[in-house]
Amino acid sequence: MLVDGYRRPVTYLRVSVTDRCNLRCVYCMPPEGIEWQPHAGILRYEEIYAAVRAAAGLGIRSVRLTGGEPLVRAGLPALVEMLAAIPGIQEVSLTTNGLLLEKMAPELAQAGLKRVNVSLDSLSPERFARITRGGSLDQVLRGVQAAEACGLTPVKFNVVVLRGVNLDELLDLAALSFENKRQVRFIELMPVKNQAPWGEGFPASGQAYVPAGEILRRLAPLDPQPVASTCGCGPARSYTIAGGRGVIGLISPIGDHFCGSCNRLRLTADGNLRPCLLNDQEVPLRPALRAGQPLEPLFEQAARLKPSGHQLDLRPALGGRSMRQIGG
Ligand code: SAM
Ligand code: SF4
Repeated sequence: MLVDGYRRPVTYLRVSVTDRCNLRCVYCMPPEGIEWQPHAGILRYEEIYAAVRAAAGLGIRSVRLTGGEPLVRAGLPALVEMLAAIPGIQEVSLTTNGLLLEKMAPELAQAGLKRVNVSLDSLSPERFARITRGGSLDQVLRGVQAAEACGLTPVKFNVVVLRGVNLDELLDLAALSFENKRQVRFIELMPVKNQAPWGEGFPASGQAYVPAGEILRRLAPLDPQPVASTCGCGPARSYTIAGGRGVIGLISPIGDHFCGSCNRLRLTADGNLRPCLLNDQEVPLRPALRAGQPLEPLFEQAARLKPSGHQLDLRPALGGRSMRQIGG
């Protein structure tokens, strides 16, 4: 069993399969994009497989594929199939912007994918296109329907709450959860790298942050009632709303410390184990992978390096990697 220095069991691995993306969300990337990692620096599928197999032997049970945008990496269903077949891995899931989901959902489901989280910050096509710098809301919603038709359920929506951008839509976004057991998770804006000016009509990134307490107050008309987290896989508080028709979550790394129940490690696309999203310490896995050395000691080292909690309140912005590099 992988246990960290504070006796928290580590059972969940987020794997970033690429740092590339087909969108440029204002809070994640600059409009001109960023310099991608060269292909040789990105873990090959066999290397990701080897890493997850070692992790499974140490007690990792759930794997979430993320990015960048995981669906832009060629042949992703093949990776899903490889990972889903690893003994001990109970669930392979995916976080995506949904643009390519309509086309890929059937193949992903057939490969053994269990669920998808889809990022969706607005239900207004124009606003959605502005936030994502060019994304089509319609295409994403068709992707969600395709995912549900293939049994990739319950779909969870990730909404980054942004003052001056989508605060007026929280009730409408929460109402997405009324159908098909979907969940809507409202996420506090995190002060990661690439918080350069977002563009005309947007607030300064420092002013867009909305604390979870305020998000919850704004959802009060839906009468949110706290429930035990349904997934057991992350730092979210869950609530039933509107007579139990829907479930919403609040992900609040800044306003609340959920670190006490943190159960995860991250593997970056270039092969570093990252003990904490909000801490720049990393353990390189790639040299050992490419030299055929055992990986277990590196997972154990990364688990030991997990801090008891983050210190974002003391240190307002991360200097190192942006979200699309870490995988969110
Ligand atoms: N491209 C995929 C997507 O957008 O779902 C997966 C990668 S993305 C980095 C993972 C999650 O991180 C998304 O839900 C996104 O909204 C969130 N995210 C990115 N930058 C963020 C920030 N600065 N604060 C909070 N969440 C952020
Ligand atoms: Fe791409 Fe996801 Fe970042 Fe948006 S949040 S730019 S979709 S990686």
